Amino acid sequence: VSELGLHELTTWLRRCTELIDENAPHLTDLDAAIGDADHGANMQRGFDAVAGILDGEYEDVQALMKKVGMTLVSSVGGASGPLYGTFFLRFATSAKGADALDLHALFAALQAGVHGIEERGKSMIGQKTMLDAWVPALDAYQRAGETLQGAVLAGAAGAQEGRDATGPMEATKGRASYLGERSVGHIDPGAASTALLWEALADVVRP
Ligand code: ADP
Ligand code: MG
Ligand code: MG
Repeated sequence: VSELGLHELTTWLRRCTELIDENAPHLTDLDAAIGDADHGANMQRGFDAVAGILDGEYEDVQALMKKVGMTLVSSVGGASGPLYGTFFLRFATSAKGADALDLHALFAALQAGVHGIEERGKSMIGQKTMLDAWVPALDAYQRAGETLQGAVLAGAAGAQEGRDATGPMEATKGRASYLGERSVGHIDPGAASTALLWEALADVVRP
């Protein structure tokens, strides 16, 4: 795969739904430790709704991803809904006019999405949130960048490392920040779901 068109992006989103379903209990356990024990259910509700719109007809990448973002914003009550929703809405805008995303266009779209999360969440790396998976993933993607496949696989590995690195962090954003020091020693649920989205993307490009 050297670029992602409507077909590949739809496959990515279906795979996201599968991995979220499989891992929902785990995401909820992580959120039970430092939040309100609903991240698995929130992500499931959102991605089940996304799965429901994938059979529609979309003119281009922007139209599909915009619909995904709007669906997440409107179906998920928790903080993660507007944040992931904004990610896909910004991804869509970046992909404007494209029929498919190559190595560089995919990076631009992912980066626009992550900037959207930062703006919407008024957050940044180091605060024990999903950004601590997103940002290392983008860095690894960019460093690897020669082929789409190599970059995405590196990005997925970066997301996992970033997720694991949230364990020792103290949360300063989101619900977990209410716990202060007691948030230390637990993986952030949103970083774990972000790693799943990357794992799903890796499954699409893997030969
Ligand atoms: P809620 O906290 O409303 O119950 P979820 O449990 O679905 O929502 O999602 C929690 C996750 O959202 C956190 O683990 C964290 O990764 C992410 N999150 C929360 N607030 C922010 C923020 N301001 N910026 C980035 N990510 C955030
Ligand atoms: Mg929660
Ligand atoms: Mg909640």
